[in-house]
Amino acid sequence: MAKLTFKSKLPDLPTSIFTTMSQMAKTENALNLSQGFPDFPPDPELVQCVQQAMQKDYHQYAPLGGIFPLREQIAEKIERCYGSSYHPQKEITVTVGATQAIFTAISAFVYPGDEVIVLKPAYDCYEPTIVANGGIPVLIQMEGKEHGVNWDEVARCINHKTRMIVINTPHNPSGRVFSREEMLRLENLLRDTDILVVSDEVYEHLVFDGLQHESASRFPDLASRSLVCASFGKTFHVTGWKMGYCAAPEYLMAEFQKIHEFAVFCVNHPLQHALTAYLKNPEHYLGLGKFFEEKRNLFLRGIENSRFRFIPTQGTYFQLLDYSEISEESDIHIAERLTREHGIASIPISVFNKKQLDNHQLRFCFAKKDETLNKAIEILNTI
Ligand code: PMP
Ligand code: GLN
Repeated sequence: MAKLTFKSKLPDLPTSIFTTMSQMAKTENALNLSQGFPDFPPDPELVQCVQQAMQKDYHQYAPLGGIFPLREQIAEKIERCYGSSYHPQKEITVTVGATQAIFTAISAFVYPGDEVIVLKPAYDCYEPTIVANGGIPVLIQMEGKEHGVNWDEVARCINHKTRMIVINTPHNPSGRVFSREEMLRLENLLRDTDILVVSDEVYEHLVFDGLQHESASRFPDLASRSLVCASFGKTFHVTGWKMGYCAAPEYLMAEFQKIHEFAVFCVNHPLQHALTAYLKNPEHYLGLGKFFEEKRNLFLRGIENSRFRFIPTQGTYFQLLDYSEISEESDIHIAERLTREHGIASIPISVFNKKQLDNHQLRFCFAKKDETLNKAIEILNTI
């Protein structure tokens, strides 16, 4: 068989840490608190909405940007939550999860040689997408175990080649929620430039302790240059559905849709109808912060006397635990060992850091049944 010669676009891409750790959890029969997904079912009312949609005649292609009623519901949700207005037809596109929204946003605007600023640790889909488009990721490490952003360093990295900055709040994996001051700082930094923002807000409703999610859409100058990406998978406990959306001003959305058209053309039609019906009740997403805050509190109360140290996470469904009192091993090594020897899987966060910086922190997902969390607590207290 002939073997052709070609140059890989992503020659150094390792297997995703989520795949690696979830597989290891399976083979070792360990509790899986690694990959971020709930181990409980979605609301039966949502499943019923899908069943109803499946009985109707929605089995052919949906319109390119999504069905109008869903885009209307999304626009209303954004207005209700952040007071910002997006035109349902011209400024919102339904996507195959946030991943496709992010891929499309980057592909629509990044040319070979363009620089894109990424704050590390970063969720794993940004850099490969930038590189596959010929862009150059400019990596800025968030500082210390608390993951503060050095905005002066961000300012220093901006030059005539900077095309875009990717931000993520609430932030995966640190759980940090960007403050209003930080968003204003970013807005001021970018004013009078042509720099775009991809704002990954998939955990927008998972914010705790009375904090508020500072969506890029709240800040007029920032919103005018931002593509805000969101995920129904995270919001409605249905990560396997791969449904999300992007909201952006019309002049950006027009370009976004040119790529969207040839990446997927349109998205699962019956699920769009189901989500439209379910979104009509805002309680379905407004209560989410409290729901996950209780899970976080249960988890943290349970391990407060363990040898793990932590700062309670401000948002997302991830909690970082510092194991430096337990061991000097690398985070990758201990994550594997805890899976094999103690039956609990987590994510080593060095893989998301610049130069694999190892702060001796592991990420645990607490989007789990209380029963699972109690088992996890029992194990963590013995380590
Ligand atoms: N961004 C972040 C920060 C994530 O954690 C995830 C994982 N769900 C995504 C994007 C991708 O979202 P989706 O599953 O909707 O593609
Ligand atoms: N977003 C999920 C996490 O951070 C993983 C999604 C995936 O496996 N790609 O755990």
